Amino acid sequence: MATAIEKCVHCGFCLAACPTYSLLGEEMDSPRGRIYLMKNVLEDKLPAEEAQPYIDRCLGCMACVPACPSGVAYGDLLVGYRALQEKERARPPLDALARKMMIETLPYPRRFRLAAAAGKIGAALAPALPDAFASMLSLLPDRLPPPRPLPAVLPAQGDRRGKVALMLGCVQQALAPEIAYAAAHTLAANGVEAQIPQAQGCCGSILLHIGAAEQAQQIARRNLEAIPSDVDAIITTAAGCGSGIKDYALLFKGEPDQDRAADFAHKAMDFSAYLAELGLREARGFDSEVRIVYQDACHLLHAQGHEAEPRKLLASIPNLRLLNIADAGMCCGSAGTYNIDQPKIAAELARRKVESILAVEPDMVVSGNIGCMAQLRQQLKSSGNPLPVMHIAELLWQAHQR
Ligand code: SF4
Ligand code: SF4
Repeated sequence: MATAIEKCVHCGFCLAACPTYSLLGEEMDSPRGRIYLMKNVLEDKLPAEEAQPYIDRCLGCMACVPACPSGVAYGDLLVGYRALQEKERARPPLDALARKMMIETLPYPRRFRLAAAAGKIGAALAPALPDAFASMLSLLPDRLPPPRPLPAVLPAQGDRRGKVALMLGCVQQALAPEIAYAAAHTLAANGVEAQIPQAQGCCGSILLHIGAAEQAQQIARRNLEAIPSDVDAIITTAAGCGSGIKDYALLFKGEPDQDRAADFAHKAMDFSAYLAELGLREARGFDSEVRIVYQDACHLLHAQGHEAEPRKLLASIPNLRLLNIADAGMCCGSAGTYNIDQPKIAAELARRKVESILAVEPDMVVSGNIGCMAQLRQQLKSSGNPLPVMHIAELLWQAHQR
C-alpha cells in the first residue's frame, strides 16, 4: 500500500479513465482522490468512516492503472486497504446481513443454486426490500439452467498442442454451466487436453474484491491443492477469476504457500488469451454476416491487458463483423458485487453502456465475463432490446459446430 501511495505524483492523468469520476465529477470519487483519502486514513489523519463512502463507490475496475504514467499499483492499494478496513468496520445490521449472504453463498455453486431458487420465490417482496436485496433478486434469472457435467479429463482431438487445467468458476457454474462446457470442448477441438479437477472451488476473487481476504485465502488454498502443476496453463473463463488469481501472489505474501501461489498466479491465463496465442486450428464461421459488439470486461482489459486477443479470435471467424463502440473501456457497472452494493451507479453505467452498444445496431453482444453478461442482459431487456448476449467460448463453440 505504501509503495502505491508513494508512486502517485497527483498528475491527474487517471481521472478521465475513471467511471465514477466521469459520472459523479467529484475529486474524491477519482483515483487520485481515493489514493489521498486512503493515505490519510492509513496515516491516522482522517477517520476511516469519512473516507468510506468514496472507497465503497470505487468499482475496482482498474481503468486507472493503465492510464497512470507513474505505474501506481492502485489494485494492490485498494485490495489491501479494503481487507484492512473490513476487520474494523461496523456495518448497519441489514448491510452486514447482505454481505454475509454474499460471502456464504456466491463462492459455493450448490448453495448459490438453493439461494437462487429461494430468491425467486421471494422476488415478489423485492419492492419492499432494501436496495442491496432488491438488486440481488433482480439479477437472478427466471430459471437456472441444468448443470452441464464435464469429465475429469477431456482429451485433445488430433495432435495434442497443449494441456491445461480448466477453472469452472463459482456463480458461473450455477448461472451458465454451458460456458465451461463450451470452453472445454473448444479447447479439445483445438488439440488441447483439458483437465477439469473435480475438487476445485471458487478462486476467491469475488471475496477479495469486497475485502474478505481471510475467506478468500481459505478457498484459494483449496485450489492450490486441487489443480495439477504439470499443465501449460490454468484457464479461466471469467475475467474476474483471472485477475483474482493473478492476485494470489499478493494474497499469500509472507505465507508458507507464497511460492506455490505465485506459480499458480503465473500460470493463470484467460481462455481467449490462451487460444489467441495458440491459434484456432480451423476457423469455421457463419453462413451470413453476424454483427457483434465485443464487451471488454474491465478485469480482462485493464487488469490483465487483454484487448487484442479476444478480437483476434473473433476476427478469425468468417462472416463475423466486429463493431466498435464509444467508450469501450468504460465499466458496465457489474464489477464483482458492485451492482448489488451500489445499484444506482451500476444502473447508470449499464444504461450508458447499452446506449453505446445499441447505437451501432449489432445482432449480438459477446463478452468474456459472466458478470458483464448478466448486467448487459438485464439492461438490454429493460431497454426493450433483448439482444442475445454470449460468452466468447460459446460463440467459438457454436462456430466450430457449424
Ligand atoms: S495518473 Fe497515477 S500518478 Fe497521476 S494522479 Fe493518477 S494515480 Fe496518481
Ligand atoms: S478502480 Fe475504477 S472506479 Fe476505482 S478509482 Fe480506478 S478507475 Fe475509478
